[in-house]
Amino acid sequence: MGVTLSRPGAARFRNPCAQHLRSQAVADLSELQAIASSCQGCRLASGRTTVVFGEGSPSATLMVIGEGPGRDEDLQGRPFVGRSGRLLDRLLAEEAGFERDAVYIANVVKCRPPDNRDPKPDEIEACRPYLDAQVALVSPKVVVTLGNFASKTLLRSELGITRLRGSVYPWPSEGDSPGLGGTVVVPTFHPAAALRGGGEVLAAMRADFVRARRCLEAVPVRGKGPL
Ligand code: SF4
Repeated sequence: MGVTLSRPGAARFRNPCAQHLRSQAVADLSELQAIASSCQGCRLASGRTTVVFGEGSPSATLMVIGEGPGRDEDLQGRPFVGRSGRLLDRLLAEEAGFERDAVYIANVVKCRPPDNRDPKPDEIEACRPYLDAQVALVSPKVVVTLGNFASKTLLRSELGITRLRGSVYPWPSEGDSPGLGGTVVVPTFHPAAALRGGGEVLAAMRADFVRARRCLEAVPVRGKGPL
């Protein structure tokens, strides 16, 4: 399925590399990745080794979205390959019943922020067309967002992850990615927080991945606010 993104508001397309995503259909993830691979759409381009586009099943029912590449990811060109990645793999297998290859994994920004700093709002906006296109092309039933940035960005919320997690949300529908009828968002902590924070955070993440699995087993009815 090709997608043409038609978000209202030119501000979303300040990234000239992604500009044409607005008017031209992108046939598949490979074509989108080829566009992103040479992107100079924000200042993060200057410090990256590789564009960490994302990977996994192009028809995944479960998609996982993190914040941005770290050092290992930048070097290898793959998302979630370090300690956080190993924990993510465990949670997917043990709580959601998925091998890594069966899901699709991407980040909010595709290039590593220097010194692993937080991505800035203009960088997130510049990279957003790629993420929207990825979600539209994969068209998952459930999107698990990892941590503050991914959760707040995807849900367009000012609330932090501690407040957001524990609920299931309909995919935002204000002109967002088309073709996502029934998609829901399940926010949870970033695996790095569990590695730092110990058992309580990990237990909450386990519960959230179980929640994601249950959403896949019985896709909820869409509506406003937490489901
Ligand atoms: S972070 Fe996104 S918008 Fe910025 S250069 Fe990388 S791919 Fe382009």
